[in-house]
Amino acid sequence: MARRYEPSEIEPRWVRVWEEEDLYRASDDPGDDRPTFYALDMFPYPSGDLHMGHAEAFSGGDVIARYQWMRGHNVLHPIGWDAFGLNAENAAIKRGTPPAEWTYANIEQQAASFRRMGMSFDWARLVRTCDPEYYRWTQWLFLRLFERGLAYRKSAPVNWCPKDQTVLANEQVIAGKCERCGTMVERRELTQWFFRVTEYAQRLLDDVDLLTDWPERVVTMQRNWIGRSEGAEVTFTIEETGEEVPVFTTRPDTLWGVTFFVFSVDHPAVQRLAELGGTWDDVAPLLQRAAATSLVEREAADTKEGVFLGVHVVNPVNGERVPCYAAPYVLMGYGTGAIMAVPAHDQRDFEFARAHDVPVRVVIQPEGAEMLDGDTMTEAYAGEGVMVNSGPFDGRPTPASIAEVTAWLASNERGKAAVNFRLRDWLISRQRYWGAPIPIVHCPNCGEVAVSDDQLPVRLPDDADFQPGGESPLARHPTWKHVACPDCGGEAERDTDTMDTFVDSSWYFFRYCSPGYEGGPFRREDIDRWMPASQYTGGVEHAILHLLYCRFFTKALYDMDLVGFTEPFPKLMNQGQVIYDGASMSKTKGNIVEPMPLVERWGADTMRLMMLFAGPFEDDIDWKLIAPDPDRKPGVTAWLGRVVAAVAQAAQRGAGADEDEELVRLTHKTIKGVTEDLDRFRFNTAISKLMVLTNEIRTTLDEGDGALEASRALVQMLAPFAPFAAEELWRVELGESASVHLSAWPSFDPALVVEETVTLVVQVNGKVRDKVEVPADVSEADALVAARASAGARRSLEGREVVKEIVRAPKLVNFVVKG
Ligand SMILES: [Zn+2]
Ligand SMILES: [Zn+2]
Repeated sequence: MARRYEPSEIEPRWVRVWEEEDLYRASDDPGDDRPTFYALDMFPYPSGDLHMGHAEAFSGGDVIARYQWMRGHNVLHPIGWDAFGLNAENAAIKRGTPPAEWTYANIEQQAASFRRMGMSFDWARLVRTCDPEYYRWTQWLFLRLFERGLAYRKSAPVNWCPKDQTVLANEQVIAGKCERCGTMVERRELTQWFFRVTEYAQRLLDDVDLLTDWPERVVTMQRNWIGRSEGAEVTFTIEETGEEVPVFTTRPDTLWGVTFFVFSVDHPAVQRLAELGGTWDDVAPLLQRAAATSLVEREAADTKEGVFLGVHVVNPVNGERVPCYAAPYVLMGYGTGAIMAVPAHDQRDFEFARAHDVPVRVVIQPEGAEMLDGDTMTEAYAGEGVMVNSGPFDGRPTPASIAEVTAWLASNERGKAAVNFRLRDWLISRQRYWGAPIPIVHCPNCGEVAVSDDQLPVRLPDDADFQPGGESPLARHPTWKHVACPDCGGEAERDTDTMDTFVDSSWYFFRYCSPGYEGGPFRREDIDRWMPASQYTGGVEHAILHLLYCRFFTKALYDMDLVGFTEPFPKLMNQGQVIYDGASMSKTKGNIVEPMPLVERWGADTMRLMMLFAGPFEDDIDWKLIAPDPDRKPGVTAWLGRVVAAVAQAAQRGAGADEDEELVRLTHKTIKGVTEDLDRFRFNTAISKLMVLTNEIRTTLDEGDGALEASRALVQMLAPFAPFAAEELWRVELGESASVHLSAWPSFDPALVVEETVTLVVQVNGKVRDKVEVPADVSEADALVAARASAGARRSLEGREVVKEIVRAPKLVNFVVKG
């Protein structure tokens, strides 16, 4: 009787065996001479059970790890949780349970689900960023950055809900309103901690060139985020006070077209200048409005809004005095927080000028086109041309003149060449409870004092009050913050901010290399063994910040001589999203499909195959197209059933039975193809090749021949994709004692994969006109194309009408022609 496929019986059994056999333990034994392979997945956030995105990403990551094991590598495939953060705190507020309780319960749930899905993790290396033994080292790393001046404090705006009396993260501000209560969010200034990422801007940009195995779009996003631009810094002078205000411009060739000057509403000089100019009564409401605008909205400020400050600056190139404004469209974060405005050649300046009746002066005329007129133009002209109204530079062509003007500014001491980065320093302070406390003590005598390394971790109190209101939970705690100053022993206070969770996730991949190590965040010899990671797999939503911060950390650690490389992830792959009916899955849309109930119903192997067979791994998967009817058994389950039945039958028939030569050839061709596909992460095409091989095995068995060797290869190649079914067949049906997952990946005989060719005879009206070599399995369509393309057929068919094509692939094509 044919063997039936019953995943609900097979899968839980092998989960237990693999755990008993400790199958996926990475070896730190220096005597282990296998090459190492670090298969790294972006670690999950424990916000509930696993979702479809996890199921997809980790199915792919697991194929990579299992495949490399079979290729003879000593594989490190760890798992951990990015366990601090806002969600846990919000859940705590809602349910009245401590964030730790919610977080650890979710981690348990996700861990159980990962086991059920057959993920090949080395559980002994588990990392949870909210464990004191982990955040001890997050704090240690903070102190190393602090010592080098790479962690510092300055005043910065935060989103503030006046009703909840609390600071809000950007993601808690929805359309300018508090996510929790709907009140309009205000901005407030707070002294907060930053990491000096900008000090690494140029290196972060230069080393992008090393990332040749990253998706092109991610590389582009990194470049744009760093946003290097070359130009000039030009010094304007405030006429009324004589103070100098530098501005950065990428277009010094338009300096003669400056007709006004704009300060960001956040610029520290604005109030003073407005009071001096006698316009404070007009400017104050603008600043108030801006203060009530969330940071998110400020990015899209109205270019028409702004108020005259009543003072002027002098343009250093021509001595002209131009009026100064304060306007929200100029961001304090870019350049110096003040801009020279050239309305004729910058669209936002143009819109502002028209709204405020400021003159528009053309200084670049396009060549060979109608002359621009500042009074009548309807939009700015940002293209190339020839400089006009520009004193000594009239007639010079742009953009070549940009360098000439820059050199002239420098030699006349009115400016200099300058580089500006879009990248800002990283604000890491959070006025929250559920994060790593910042290990600094503020002393009235000594200032900012580092907690000494042997006093780490600075632990979170278990009894904090999470309800929103006023100060952060750590600041409000009755005793936690009061400590003796580590330097002078006097009364002092702990810093009550916690770190952004992106700090925790900027170094977790180092900790996996030295689990449980107590002498530091990691051991250098472990890092040298495993890092840089061989493959990093995760979502494209982390293409900017997470990857940038990991790169920054790695470079900082390199400069401290703690690691020996500057890029942690030379190879990166982004899987697509799992969507539903063309839209992302979300609670509000009510279209969420949970993976674990489907695993219970169909089996983990089926779930994994559905994810991997749906299409290229980097493309989105529309679940509605994959499983339109949740009550119908998926196609891949039926295929697994055929695999099980065929392999069981082949095993019974045994090695004595003759193996058909065609099957042998197909087996070797499949090994070659699947190997190449796996090296390029083409999971879907690899699976389809295995399906073709399954069909051929079935045909061979039905003809009464043997298929043992083909079946063994099929089971081994199936192992990374469907680890349970493969293990069952390998050990139970094929009688192996050791796991298929530790077996050596099958190899192919090059002689057997050479494509056989046959001679195709090309006839016209039954007469032989040519002969061409074609693959033995050529399709009718391809045979026809090859015949038509032959020299003999082309000569003979010239100017004649073909009335019929007779195709007998692969041997004959006959063209019947008139006349
Ligand atoms: Zn609120
Ligand atoms: Zn002190």
